Amino acid sequence: MADAKRIDGKAFAEGLRERVGAEVARIKSESDVTPGLAVVLVGEDPASSVYVRNKAKQTEEAGMKSIEHRMPMETNEADLLALIGELNGDASINGILVQLPLPDQIDEQKVLAAIDVEKDVDGFHVENVGRLWTGGDALVPCTPFGCILMLKEELGDLSGQRAVIVGRSNIVGKPMAALLLAESCTVSICHSRTHDLEERCREADILVAAVGRPEMIRGDWVKPGAVVIDVGINRIDAPEKGEGKTRLVGDVAYDEALQVAGAITPVPGGVGPMTIACLLRNTVVAACRQNGLNDPAL
Ligand code: NDP
Repeated sequence: MADAKRIDGKAFAEGLRERVGAEVARIKSESDVTPGLAVVLVGEDPASSVYVRNKAKQTEEAGMKSIEHRMPMETNEADLLALIGELNGDASINGILVQLPLPDQIDEQKVLAAIDVEKDVDGFHVENVGRLWTGGDALVPCTPFGCILMLKEELGDLSGQRAVIVGRSNIVGKPMAALLLAESCTVSICHSRTHDLEERCREADILVAAVGRPEMIRGDWVKPGAVVIDVGINRIDAPEKGEGKTRLVGDVAYDEALQVAGAITPVPGGVGPMTIACLLRNTVVAACRQNGLNDPAL
């Protein structure tokens, strides 16, 4: 069997960012609105810091306003809630993203619930979650939304496809299930208590891995011709690159799955780049809704 098609998330994300940039230019020319995104980072986690910097850079490159708020690790909940209150009331800010995880002294759910639902560009507010499951106008979590865009590009109509998701987190697994269900897939959600996980995976026309365990899903768990979306990002030791070196791998054993699948997203360069592109897209959608403009064609 020929190798699977490699789904190029990087190229796909570049295309989406270009379309977002074109929509931002159109909105600016037709109104006095410049979509604005505020990102809040509490603490100095190096990975989060790089991620926040990338978000800010790509927001500006798309012609939008970007604001970064960096708060110290010892920030208390009241101070963070006060900042969110200010951002909620600032008409030049259309999207608010609080980088997770937050330090232990801060209640994550309380913070997410404090974000204005119309500015919740991560789609984690309980009202957006409800809208997503009930077919309303939700702001949709970025990572699963990026996966759906790539799946539709790959397969066209997803209706009737058998989809299996491994992972049931609020940020990936569950919203992914809602989105696939909305596309009329037959959806199973697997997790750490699932019996016969390998068998369940082998049933999938669409297999989404969001586990956080390096290369857990082996090639012989994949149905021949299936489309495999690997959300996992795991850093593992790479002694072959030299002492102390590391590399990124997904939740799927890529080289094995490549022999069996019809198409597969690599790690890195698959789902990851789509996440920020979808964040920019959500910010433009939020800006349009807040200013009574038509939803952008994104
Ligand atoms: P969580 O840790 O919140 O959830 C992991 C899920 O995997 C849980 O539902 C857990 O089950 C399940 N699980 C764990 N071990 C097993 C097992 N042995 N068999 C079956 N299921 C198992 O992770 P996230 O959803 O936040 O992230 C998942 C992965 O995706 C991570 O690698 C993360 O880095 C990556 N990620 C990538 C993003 C991107 O932009 N590409 C964005 C967000 C995440 P249970 O509920 O029973 O414990």
